[in-house]
Amino acid sequence: MEKWLEGKVVEKRHWSDKLYSIRLKAPVDGFTAGQFTRLALEIDGERVARPYSFVNPPQDELLEVHFNEVENGPLSPRLAALEPGDRVWVSARANGFFTLEQLPQSENLWMIATGTALGVYLSILRTELPWQRFQQIVLVHNVRYKDQLSYGEEIATLKQDYGERFRYLPITSQEQLQDALQGRILAALEDGRLERHAGVELTPQKSHVMLCGNMGMIREVSAALEARGMRKHRKKEPGHFTTEKYH
Ligand SMILES: Cc1cc2nc3c(=O)[nH]c(=O)nc-3n(C[C@H](O)[C@H](O)[C@H](O)COP(=O)(O)OP(=O)(O)OC[C@H]3O[C@@H](n4cnc5c(N)ncnc54)[C@H](O)[C@@H]3O)c2cc1C
Repeated sequence: MEKWLEGKVVEKRHWSDKLYSIRLKAPVDGFTAGQFTRLALEIDGERVARPYSFVNPPQDELLEVHFNEVENGPLSPRLAALEPGDRVWVSARANGFFTLEQLPQSENLWMIATGTALGVYLSILRTELPWQRFQQIVLVHNVRYKDQLSYGEEIATLKQDYGERFRYLPITSQEQLQDALQGRILAALEDGRLERHAGVELTPQKSHVMLCGNMGMIREVSAALEARGMRKHRKKEPGHFTTEKYH
């Protein structure tokens, strides 16, 4: 049975209209960067729980999650209403296999996110392992509007710490920005803009690709990668891309 711990909200960030992060204090067991926890609240006498990836690296004292308030969703609007000092149930044990430990070796690593899926990569990127294992890392973040390009400070620190080894490619689909690509990930992959702007090749010989976020993106980008001769990675049959679906 799932073991629940009482967590306390310490800090809340409100990035834009429906986009939030909360930092929590809870005595959870350790976790591996890339894993998710489950958060829960009592709603009408029932404990309603949902999975959320950790944004913080495992060594941090506070836990952090980044989430959208989904209209009429059972849990997320209530999470969005929490304030510092409020209580939330946190699962004692983390779960998930979207971790570097599960990935085969490659020269470069592409981390592709839609929306709040950025968070899982920030957890991984703030550990030593990716920098020990990969020569270059490209972080692609696709959102609709520029105010959804969250965690600018954390990304600036990674740029400062890892220089040319780290590339950040924001993509806005509904708004044109000087420093971002415009449109959708699939189009930017297919017309070569991703590789051109990153200055990093995306090939079966050199790359592993992580895809996290909405099902539509994962489905269409997976198909485009397969068309390049890449296949989904499985433990028994090593491949070139790994996925985690949020919705
Ligand atoms: C392994 C895993 C990790 C996850 N990690 C995160 C995370 O770090 N951050 C996060 O925001 N969500 C994450 N999710 C989704 C999250 O668990 C909830 O589904 C989401 O917060 C909505 O909860 P809800 O109870 O309000 O609505 P739900 O009943 O869960 O969903 C209602 C509808 O909302 C849509 N939806 C679900 N998640 C999102 C989203 N993120 N953005 C837009 N629409 C969505 C779905 O299409 C669904 O039909 C994760 C899901 C999985 C499976």
